[in-house]
Amino acid sequence: MRKPFVAGNWKMNTDTHTSVDLSKRIATGSSDVAGHSVTIAVCPPFTYLQSVTKALSASHIAVGAQDVYFESNGAFTGEISPFMLKDIGCTYVLCGHSERRHVIGETDDLINKKVTAAIAGGLLPILCVGELLSERDAGQTEQVVSQQLKKGLAGLSYEKASAVAIAYEPVWAIGTGRTATPQQAQEVHDFIRMLLAQMYDDQLTDEIRILYGGSAKPDNAEDLMSQDDVDGLLVGGASLNADDFLSIIRAAV
Ligand code: PEP
Repeated sequence: MRKPFVAGNWKMNTDTHTSVDLSKRIATGSSDVAGHSVTIAVCPPFTYLQSVTKALSASHIAVGAQDVYFESNGAFTGEISPFMLKDIGCTYVLCGHSERRHVIGETDDLINKKVTAAIAGGLLPILCVGELLSERDAGQTEQVVSQQLKKGLAGLSYEKASAVAIAYEPVWAIGTGRTATPQQAQEVHDFIRMLLAQMYDDQLTDEIRILYGGSAKPDNAEDLMSQDDVDGLLVGGASLNADDFLSIIRAAV
């Protein structure tokens, strides 16, 4: 039985005051379920990670970063290492978010290095995969997702891969208000689980959590979560509103 997992990706939003206020409101509103009935994580911008980890220290809400570099230290101006994230209390890190793939230009090889380094540094990566609208329209969804998944997890042993959660995020659904239907999400999640079975074994396949992301909201969270292979939600816009995020958490339990 996979525990539901709801993660909030705050992207490049909030400030010192609002990041702490939002964290506290989410912690208070989810204290009866956080940790035991549902895994909850928030991923603030780098600049607020420390104040958010402090604000959440007495809660069961984990903190994740939105990105990481693959080297542990040295002359890499502007980058942040897995060690540094771990050092300030991060548990998770997003790797390969579509905005990093398509806006910043990250490649599957770079993302694989980040996933590998994150695990080596004691972090739990959330590997994001998903097709563009043009790729879906051209019938290439499975091909794209398969390549991103296989390359993202390349070289990882069973033990290491079990640290990873996958987020299926169709790019056409992110920040657009256009959510994948529960059936569309289920089809791709089922496909991802089948790929994991080919790459690893049945135990990992049963255990690994596959989150859906793309305009998840209070009014569609329950339907999405009702699908067999949708184990959680990666939430962007709606995670910036404490009431909305808490409703989504409730729908996932
Ligand atoms: C995301 O940023 O991962 C995301 C799913 O965004 P939104 O929920 O706003 O579509």
